[in-house]
This record gives sequence, C-alpha cells and structure tokens, in this order.
Amino acid sequence: MTQSLSNRQAALEQARGLLAQCEKIVCFSGAGLSAESGISTFRDTETDALWSRYDPTKLASPEGFAEDPKLVIDWYDWRRQAIANAEPNAAHIALAGRPDIIQVTQNVDDLLERAGCKAESVFHLHGNITHDRCHARCGYQQKVDLGSPPGLRSCPMCNAPLRPAVVWFGETLPQWAWQQSEQHCRTADCLLVIGTSASVYPAAGLIQLTKTYGGKVLVINTQPSGASALADMELIGPCGEWLPQLLS
Ligand SMILES: [Zn+2]
Repeated sequence: MTQSLSNRQAALEQARGLLAQCEKIVCFSGAGLSAESGISTFRDTETDALWSRYDPTKLASPEGFAEDPKLVIDWYDWRRQAIANAEPNAAHIALAGRPDIIQVTQNVDDLLERAGCKAESVFHLHGNITHDRCHARCGYQQKVDLGSPPGLRSCPMCNAPLRPAVVWFGETLPQWAWQQSEQHCRTADCLLVIGTSASVYPAAGLIQLTKTYGGKVLVINTQPSGASALADMELIGPCGEWLPQLLS
C-alpha cells in the first residue's frame, strides 16, 4: 500500500463518480472478502496444525470423498465451525447496505446473508457450505447447523452419503446460479470485483463478459491480480476499508 492519503481520496472520488453513473451494479466476490472475517480459504489449510498433512485439493474432490468420506466430512465440519464463529466484516455490511447490488460470489459461506443481503440476490457460484446434499443427486438437500455440524451420515431418501452442497474440483457449477450470474454480468453497468484473483475459470470469465457487453469493471483487492488487466479502475487495499467509503 503505497497510495498517499491524497491519492487515496482522489481514487475514492473517482470510483464514487464511476458508480454514480451506473444504474445496475453487480458485485463479484471471492475469498478476499471473507478473509477479512478471518475465514481461510482451503489453500490456507497448509498453515493449520491439524490439517496441514492433507492435500486440500484432494479433500475437496469426488475422488477424495470416495477414498475416505469421513476424513472429508471431518474437514468440512472444521471449516463449518470456523465460519459459524466468524462475523460479517465491514465490507459484507457495506454491500448489504446496498440492496440494489446483485451479489455473485465464489464464497461458500453465508456471511453476505448474515450481514443482511437477501438470499434471492446472492448467487453462490461454488455452492453453499450451509447445506448438505445427496452425493448421488437424488435431490435431497438439508440445511445444517454450522456451529454443530452433523458429521458423516446417509441420505434419508436413497441411503447414499450426504456431503456439503459445495462445488468440488472437477464438478460443474450449479446451473441456476451460473445462468443468473452470466445474465447479471452481461447487463451490468459496473462490475465490482472484490477480493478475487480472477484465476479460477469459468467464474473469472464473468469479468470479461461485463467488459464485452460494455460495462465498467472496478476492482478492489489487497494486491494486483489477474483482474487488474481488465479493470477500468483498481483500488488496492482491504475491501473492509474501501467499500464502506465507496458505497455509503
Ligand atoms: Zn439421496
């Protein structure tokens, strides 16, 4: 962070001016948004004493689940409890204060909803850790208590194992959330890109989609990333500092 105070103020005013010209604003968020609530991404698992010996890309995969379902569920239960103990941060709260903004998020936690975003205006591209679903896709789904997660159990409809309703490596994105996100990004006057390195496709392609259809792209991240090249404007720093000033 090398921006001086006056540079920072000028950047903020420019960004506010950009948003003021926009009727439809869509926010596309990633792990950086929830990181400021203390939620680590699975990539940070390696820093945890208990879980560092496991490969998170394997834990979050159908192959890992087939090999050792209890291990995978125990890992998710650990993550669920961390989310239960976290609170929405200033960025979540600033976003929730603007119900006109559509939320497209790669985060599987419920912090946007807990900050006050209406569930119907939040599209979870990578699913929801708040729910279990039938691994055999019989259609069964159930909300779980994040603070007291249920452990490995069977589907009451078909007896296949239940698993978190999140997208694992090698799995396709939830169709409804993806279609809605595409539609919103295509018609956005401005896409706010928050806390994502824009390295995971197809989600990162949404930024390109907004640009292709003539929308502006405003990126907020703690450091330059893959999204920088597509940005009409970029604010470097914690989203919990920028967003309350930008959206108030
Ligand atoms: Zn089932």
